[in-house]
Amino acid sequence: MKLVLMGLPGAGKGTQAEKIVAKYNIPHISTGDMFRAAIKNGTELGLKAKSFMDSGNLVPDDVTNGIVRECLAEDDAKDGFLLDGFPRTVEQAEELEKILSDLGTKLDAVINIQVNKDSLMTRLTGRWICPTCGKTYHEVFNPPKQAGICDVDGAKLYQREDDKAETVENRLNVNIKQTQPLLDFYGEKGTLFAVNGEQDIDLVFEDVNKILTSF
Ligand code: ADP
Ligand code: ADP
Repeated sequence: MKLVLMGLPGAGKGTQAEKIVAKYNIPHISTGDMFRAAIKNGTELGLKAKSFMDSGNLVPDDVTNGIVRECLAEDDAKDGFLLDGFPRTVEQAEELEKILSDLGTKLDAVINIQVNKDSLMTRLTGRWICPTCGKTYHEVFNPPKQAGICDVDGAKLYQREDDKAETVENRLNVNIKQTQPLLDFYGEKGTLFAVNGEQDIDLVFEDVNKILTSF
């Protein structure tokens, strides 16, 4: 199963990705997670990405496309993968077509999780993440059993720098502008499926599953 998960920041891509990769046993390739890990580890990639991320802008394509190409060429992505947070622009979508065609394959589906802007603001500003395992919580909609502590490994949860109200607004605007052409691109190819992301997490996952089991 070769999938792309789309949706504005806060739509629930990470939350659904965790469930999809567990059920279908495919690697989760999240460009945002990779950049955050690179920044944390102080690598060259992290240095290149940091200023763009801190301001809520996109990391340049030459940096982003390169790491995706590397990940997709790995052995564990041969039979399937879930791309989360990539592509974000038509240029990246075109590059993805090229990468996959060089590997002799193509996408099965692009799933777009739809959520309105007001809900996204509430979701992002209340998001808490585990620094160790990456699991995502929401202080109201999906709280951990013990406030501020990860259910899985007991680590102290943190909030992302770019989830602050000031950055969130710019991030959403940057994304909204770039998303429509991307939806048009995949819509024309016939690989695009929309899911109502305003429902409870488990109901969103049921809808995703209906799509994934339909082909
Ligand atoms: P994305 O990866 O698309 O940015 P996340 O999966 O991190 O989004 O979700 C953003 C925030 O919203 C998190 O705090 C998460 O717990 C919460 N969330 C995810 N899906 C839902 C949902 N269906 N209803 C309410 N809150 C949700
Ligand atoms: P969200 O969906 O919650 O915005 P991500 O974790 O996907 O968060 O992305 C966080 C940041 O990482 C983005 O604001 C951007 O700076 C950078 N980033 C992630 N994916 C890409 C991409 N495909 N192209 C350019 N920048 C990206």
